[in-house]
Amino acid sequence: MPEFDIVIVGGGFCGVHVAKLLEKKLPQGYTAALIDHKEYFEFTPGVPKLVLNPSHAENIRVPFKDLFKRVHFVKGEVTKISPKQVHTKSQSFTFRHLVIASGVAYPIGVKSTGVYTLKNGDEVRKFHDALQLAKSVVIVGGGLVATELAGELVTKTDKKVIMIEPGTRLLCRNAERASAWVSRYLSKRGCKILYGERAVKHEKGAIVTERGTKIPADLVAWCAGIKPESGFLEGALKDAVTEKKNIKVNNFLQVNGFPNIFCGGDLNSIVEEKTAQNADRQARVIVHNLLVLLGKKNLMIVHRPRSGPLIISLGDWAGLMIYGNLVLKGFIPGILKHVVEKILLFQIKYL
Ligand SMILES: Cc1cc2nc3c(=O)[nH]c(=O)nc-3n(C[C@H](O)[C@H](O)[C@H](O)COP(=O)(O)OP(=O)(O)OC[C@H]3O[C@@H](n4cnc5c(N)ncnc54)[C@H](O)[C@@H]3O)c2cc1C
Repeated sequence: MPEFDIVIVGGGFCGVHVAKLLEKKLPQGYTAALIDHKEYFEFTPGVPKLVLNPSHAENIRVPFKDLFKRVHFVKGEVTKISPKQVHTKSQSFTFRHLVIASGVAYPIGVKSTGVYTLKNGDEVRKFHDALQLAKSVVIVGGGLVATELAGELVTKTDKKVIMIEPGTRLLCRNAERASAWVSRYLSKRGCKILYGERAVKHEKGAIVTERGTKIPADLVAWCAGIKPESGFLEGALKDAVTEKKNIKVNNFLQVNGFPNIFCGGDLNSIVEEKTAQNADRQARVIVHNLLVLLGKKNLMIVHRPRSGPLIISLGDWAGLMIYGNLVLKGFIPGILKHVVEKILLFQIKYL
């Protein structure tokens, strides 16, 4: 069975940043591997733009083979992780240290055809194809992805757009001023927003809510709810999860009870806004602490939860930048989203 000093599970924001840092910092003679079921890193903040421009996918994907020289890439879906081994459907590996960074799933909450998720470029491609024939779209959810999708649709198409948000405002985890502005922006452009309604069924071409409201729509985008993907943990590791199935970690981002196993990004139990930026910050802490365990640095460092600025685009020319209670609206944040995408992809590819 092949053995690596460090195995990384998942090549999203956290896993790729861990691997990129190891490319530079892993001492000579040590080995590392990254396992992902895709062959490329995908810049998820750019995914909502693919709804109307699917060819942009090639700009936001970076093949792993172009990223790493020292870190060995393994294509495969991880099915089991025990305290000493990682198993994919066809191969098994032993590790000295492990980084779990496989993120979360975005499950569709109803069983039906005609309901799509926007979790990645491949799923968005299916939504894009179905959109061509649709006159109306229901968006389930009122968070970041739902809001960006609504922004794309109302600024670039003449589709009828209806959002369903169970709470009392869109972007409920952000400043109220941001919610108020974004709902005005979307409503002015014809988007209907239903608050206090939770979608529970999709039948006969309509979304049915908990209160029995029926909202007919040719197409449904499901942008609500996440599911931490920790079902592959085996043996004693099985107990290292919270009630919601996030992997429990300490402030050094080590999995509880397993000092040689780290977990970073959306999947761990750290309470902070789950963003690309925070996944990247956690990757830095993980690599530093791995180097301590390898005897190359002295003191472990702790991860300090923090909320950074969030940029939400509404079509190509408008957006919102939210930083705590500070809200910048309009053209500048809209442009910033494009600029940030270019800068971050450049950093991932070349730095
Ligand atoms: C559509 C969309 C838009 C977003 N927009 C923004 C935004 O504008 N700004 C922002 O900050 N955040 C945004 N986010 C959130 C951001 O993408 C996440 O917070 C970030 O990707 C988390 O990084 P991660 O490394 O934990 O997980 P991910 O980036 O999700 O990476 C997980 C990786 O693990 C792989 N994987 C999963 N399971 C397995 C398995 N069993 N075997 C092998 N490989 C596996 C996946 O293929 C993936 O490559 C968005 C998310 C989505 C879905």
